[in-house]
Amino acid sequence: MWKLSESRRQFFVDCGRPEENFWKTLFEQANHRELVNDEKYAGFLEWEPQHSNCPELDGATRALIDLAPAEWKATMRNIFVARAFKGEANAEASSFRSAGIIEINYGFTLAAMIYTTLFSHFYDSVLTTGKEVNFDDEDTETTMLIMEEIERAAFEPIDVTDQAIPTWAAERHVRAMHPLQIDLPPRRKESDYFNLVNVVEQFVMAHEFCHHMLGHTDASFRHSPSAKRTISEWLRRIEIAEMLDGLNGDQKQEVEADVGALLLLSGTLSEKATRVRSYNAVGGSMIALVALAHVSGGWVSRGANETHPDFLTRYEIMFRLVKEITMSLPVGEIGDHPMGFMIQLRGFISAVLQTWASKAGADVKMPNFLNTFSWMIDLEVEFREEHRRLSGGTA
Ligand SMILES: [Zn+2]
Repeated sequence: MWKLSESRRQFFVDCGRPEENFWKTLFEQANHRELVNDEKYAGFLEWEPQHSNCPELDGATRALIDLAPAEWKATMRNIFVARAFKGEANAEASSFRSAGIIEINYGFTLAAMIYTTLFSHFYDSVLTTGKEVNFDDEDTETTMLIMEEIERAAFEPIDVTDQAIPTWAAERHVRAMHPLQIDLPPRRKESDYFNLVNVVEQFVMAHEFCHHMLGHTDASFRHSPSAKRTISEWLRRIEIAEMLDGLNGDQKQEVEADVGALLLLSGTLSEKATRVRSYNAVGGSMIALVALAHVSGGWVSRGANETHPDFLTRYEIMFRLVKEITMSLPVGEIGDHPMGFMIQLRGFISAVLQTWASKAGADVKMPNFLNTFSWMIDLEVEFREEHRRLSGGTA
């Protein structure tokens, strides 16, 4: 019998823990008796697992089910989403005859938090440059000193994180090792920060849900033939046949799951697409992919036997898909557009990639903020022109 309770039971049997809130188990394991016994947390810790063992992921799962096409819902509803006690930045989908499980490692959530913090610092520097630096000022020395400080604010958090990666790999545990990986710039609202962390997790959950729906897990697991058809149509639409030809079977499945996840998160699959959801899909996918690539060193292909395509392939496919689903949206009142957000994320990603490459022995210099900033302006101008052309010159 296909039931959520079966999937849930299977997870807890496998990990040998009672069916309880992830945080209760974690506090007990870490010997935080004072937290477990604190009246203040009693209600929270007594919360009972339903779709997930973590209240926050439970809410995120319900939100994803809500965005799914009707024919996916019955299956998604019976999959248990576990916050797992593993420190590596990873997630996986597994299934047994009548149980489906998704595990999001706690280490991945820590990575989502760290990379969202890094992006917040980078974004704050972009805002500061746009608003406060006067490049026409004749006092170029002062301008350069201001720029030096802005560059430090943008890149130092990326740099300290780049240095943390060997430790994370050795300990098999992602953790914040520097205040710059935790502290937000003063202008960043905490609610915006947590919303972004949340959608990064949701993108990864959606990716794992898609592995289930597309029949990539156990063959006897109930998947949806229509899911396969829908995703194939989108792959044709964004014209990536050539890229797919160069990938092995496992890698193609990863591309399908990425594409499905972005479509699900943006509401495109259920005609629930909104502007806000497009932003969520763009931010969630890009920060998830850059975090996974940086933590694992998966920027470029290391051979045909890898299970996942390299970052540049996944990124290029996501970029085409974002363009496909958002170019028809008008530019907002303050000049905002999901593609504008995509460009900010591109700037951030190139800074992380360049920092890594400059130290990995490639013939690449450390990133320069002003170069990155002016490249982003060029991309923005290019986007505006294309958008104006596509919308018949009225934008
Ligand atoms: Zn995958």
